[in-house]
Amino acid sequence: MSFSPRLEVDLDKIKYNTAKIVQLCQEQGISVLGVTKGFTAIPQIVTAILEGGVDGLADARMENILELRKAGFSIPITLLRIPRLSNVETVVKYSNVSVNSEITVIQALGQAALKIGAKHHIILMVDVGDLREGILTEHVLDTVQAIVKLDGIALDGLGTNMGCFGGILPEYNNLNILVQLGKLIESKLGVNLEVLSGGGTSSLLLVEKGEMPRGINQLRIGEGLLLGTDTTNNRNIDWLQNDAFILKAEVIEVKAKPSVPIGNIGRDAFGNIPEFADVGIRNRAIVAFGKQDGYIEGLIPVEPGITILGASSDHMILDITEAARKIRVGDELAFRVNYSGLLSVSQSRYVKKVFRKELLWLN
Ligand SMILES: *Cc1c(COP(=O)(O)O)cnc(C)c1O
Repeated sequence: MSFSPRLEVDLDKIKYNTAKIVQLCQEQGISVLGVTKGFTAIPQIVTAILEGGVDGLADARMENILELRKAGFSIPITLLRIPRLSNVETVVKYSNVSVNSEITVIQALGQAALKIGAKHHIILMVDVGDLREGILTEHVLDTVQAIVKLDGIALDGLGTNMGCFGGILPEYNNLNILVQLGKLIESKLGVNLEVLSGGGTSSLLLVEKGEMPRGINQLRIGEGLLLGTDTTNNRNIDWLQNDAFILKAEVIEVKAKPSVPIGNIGRDAFGNIPEFADVGIRNRAIVAFGKQDGYIEGLIPVEPGITILGASSDHMILDITEAARKIRVGDELAFRVNYSGLLSVSQSRYVKKVFRKELLWLN
């Protein structure tokens, strides 16, 4: 039996992307954490990212970090989602660094670290405008003052996150706030910060343009090294590979059908009232991949002339009228994935993961 649907992962392309990003950042004194949450930290992919030369790993979920430790990865791992108060023991035991914004949680992390005779390192998240996590700039000095008093905690530095909730673009001005805060903390409190962590893939564009404020010395990159895309800035990163992940699914029906359903319209399988434009009789294909298998809106057909019309739990319906070749039952269709698509198919138990290495490795 061949596995379908399956996610084909080209490990060399991921290694290539990682090495390119690491090289660009290194030239400007910026270290790179490889973010593994986008693909549930699958070990083969983690290995490719490590071979690409990242300085550490980062993930949003302790479950993934525990799996990585179990699989024998001993490299420093940063926890990217601010820790739950109820989970601090696990955090200090298995992650080296966590990002934080609540002093209550930081105190609890300190207590937990002392209990196992360790110091837990943290990055204090500052909200410079995206309004996801982080303390507001006016509270930074007070918070840092409280943190440096804690025995079990080592404050590595400040971090920020953008382009996630508010869609705010990283720019010289908002990232420079971190640099200025770092200077203020040094002059007012005599505290030297090692790390200024300036965001994820959406911050890469500033590095490319040479506009990253001096002093930002870490990025936490996921999307860029996996997909070679930068959703926040709405671009394919043209010096990276965009097709390291390809989803393949099998065609189970091909028929010419009208473009508007026949009969009175009620609700679809998900309670929505569907609408259809009448464009006449169209050639349609159904593939064995539905909403239960992964996030349909996160898929992009590779072959030109094929569009996704929609899906139910188990069937995806495609318009193949303009396809360049004749598509038959039993054929496989290929799809690229965007970040949401990758999130869903990588954790889908219905999608088999297959790893490939191509001869793409150039330099
Ligand atoms: C997910 C995440 C990242 C990585 O973002 P990408 O856009 O995938 O590069 C970085 N930092 C934090 C805090 C995150 O949650």
